[in-house]
Amino acid sequence: MNDVLEVQSAISNQQSTIKKGRILTGDRPTGPLHLGHYVGTLANRVKLQDTYEVFLLAADYHALTRAVDKEHVSATVGNTRQLVLDYLSVGIDPEKTTIYVQSDVPSVCELHLLFSMLTTVPRLERVPTLKEIMDSEHIEQPSYGLLGYPVLQAADILHVRANLVPVGKDQASHVEVTREIARRFNFQYDCEVFPEPEALIGDVPTLVGTDNKAKMSKSLGNAILLSDDEATVRQKVMNMYTDPTRIRADIPGNPDGNPVFQYHDAFNPNVAEVEDLKSRYRAGKVGDVEVKKKLNSALQNFLAPIRERRAHYEAQPQLIDEILEAGRAKVTPISEETVRLAREAMGLRRKA
Ligand code: ATP
Ligand code: MG
Repeated sequence: MNDVLEVQSAISNQQSTIKKGRILTGDRPTGPLHLGHYVGTLANRVKLQDTYEVFLLAADYHALTRAVDKEHVSATVGNTRQLVLDYLSVGIDPEKTTIYVQSDVPSVCELHLLFSMLTTVPRLERVPTLKEIMDSEHIEQPSYGLLGYPVLQAADILHVRANLVPVGKDQASHVEVTREIARRFNFQYDCEVFPEPEALIGDVPTLVGTDNKAKMSKSLGNAILLSDDEATVRQKVMNMYTDPTRIRADIPGNPDGNPVFQYHDAFNPNVAEVEDLKSRYRAGKVGDVEVKKKLNSALQNFLAPIRERRAHYEAQPQLIDEILEAGRAKVTPISEETVRLAREAMGLRRKA
């Protein structure tokens, strides 16, 4: 019996060393994660942790691009713990995935500085998220740091020399900047220090919010959180935006562009039920309440194992510190080696 177990574990150890490459992605520790994060990127992270070496960062430096007052900055500490709990609760396995805090590995800042010489201001001004952030947060002039957000992201991705970046659609333009910087560096210094990483967009590239106005976002009050309890989810679903032309259940409605059906498509595994609801909706043979109640059931089923894992990990808070310390210890030598390779390729003076 023991022999069998030993062989099995030897095989699984061997398999875990044969990885297709590295993944890096992460989130700003500015608040709890929601269903949009799940379909946009978390699902891919969970799925790929067996086949790739996965690194996840709590991007606390990136959080500084929006708010620098002490209250917001110090809130990133507690938010980071919540972020790690969100990761663990969706099934990120800390034995397989390395989770770390961005500012715990400050060598990334040196790479950021080197990279900042390889891209132009107009190029960064053209990144579509810059205008979106400035509009939505009423910023008249971007700080130097906000403009450079994609350059720091390039340093995040490339200091572990990642090949794949699972992100929602809105972030694809940032990965493009990373690719350009990697290419530029390798060409400029005639080397192959950096891979050109690919973006991997999730099954639902952009999940709309419950208000159907904008993408689901932690800051817009239109999000269903992975940490919401049963009653909160039910209330959010029952209050969701739906086809406004439909004032009675016998009026034919349109499931296309209707967030209730977009969520059914994304989270209800019972395809036959969803198809039946859609055709009855089109024919004016089902009320919005029934469609929403079924969505609520599907979401509660989806969230049940997530809630269970969260409760399990919440009961052992010291584990989060251990995970983040192990992450820091794992990433630091990789990052420092990358910086050394970059400096050597550039011909910068050797560090003592
Ligand atoms: P939010 O956008 O909710 O305010 P944030 O700006 O802190 O949160 P991002 O950095 O935008 O978080 O998102 C982290 C990851 O989740 C990114 O890969 C992003 O593309 C993805 N993502 C966020 N919201 C959605 C969504 N509604 N649909 C799909 N993917 C999303
Ligand atoms: Mg965002």
